[in-house]
Amino acid sequence: MSAKKIALITGANKGIGLETAKQLAAEGITVLLGARDLAKGEEAAAKLKEEGFEVRPVKIDIDDKASQDAIAALIEKDYGVLDILINNAGVLIDESRARNQTSTTSEEILRKTFDTNFFATISLTQKLLPLIRKSEAGRIVNLSSILASLTLHATKGSPIYEAKTFAYDASKTALNQFTVHLAHELANTKIKVNSAHPGWVKTDMGTDAAPMEIPEGAKTSVWLATLPEDGPTGGYFHLGESLPW
Ligand code: NDP
Repeated sequence: MSAKKIALITGANKGIGLETAKQLAAEGITVLLGARDLAKGEEAAAKLKEEGFEVRPVKIDIDDKASQDAIAALIEKDYGVLDILINNAGVLIDESRARNQTSTTSEEILRKTFDTNFFATISLTQKLLPLIRKSEAGRIVNLSSILASLTLHATKGSPIYEAKTFAYDASKTALNQFTVHLAHELANTKIKVNSAHPGWVKTDMGTDAAPMEIPEGAKTSVWLATLPEDGPTGGYFHLGESLPW
């Protein structure tokens, strides 16, 4: 057992997840840097080490039930508790990305997107929940997106009114529903569950066109992962501000 807080971040070998790992390690938290390809995770952890940050690379492919079971067993055996789960892994595979083809988005793209962004994320969270319940201050952060907001999609003139990624957006809207429902169920526990919009961030997913640099893009996740006892639960946030659902 360790006195330090234990955090698992999925999809942390690059992008926002990697930066989140670095920022949490800087706060003295024991970070399990999740990667579906362990070699990529080890490479990322080695880079952080060169910068002076110690993290532990672990294999977790959220789409793979055996991998989910293995990470739960590893955390149980080595730490006996999980304080922070950051559901950061996600995919954006819309064929309609460039052409706004909601009307022709294939069932295959919809299913693949939901498999990772919704079903796998929920299933992993459910498996890890017994370990999070053992924490004095459990925190679950679901990486959503501003593109999940039905209110903003329906508001003419809003920055996302013309969004072109139907499958992705729908999967993140569904994920937001998970946040709300789980937060309700856990309302009488010490566990807080929130959705994060990181910003439009310069990563492989966000592309070079994004205005936000990665260090800023990790801030919402880090804030929600380290909320104090009187912090919010069941919310949807970007840099401390609530977003409309
Ligand atoms: P990246 O594409 O840069 O990184 C995604 C990470 O998720 C990678 O490590 C990838 O692994 C991992 N991943 C994908 N599928 C799985 C899986 N089945 N199991 C485990 N890991 C997986 O994305 P970002 O860093 O930009 O995004 C992080 C999160 O933030 C995502 O949930 C995204 O939807 C959300 N977000 C991002 C925004 C942006 O502007 N960038 C805006 C709003 C939300 P691998 O390297 O092996 O592919």
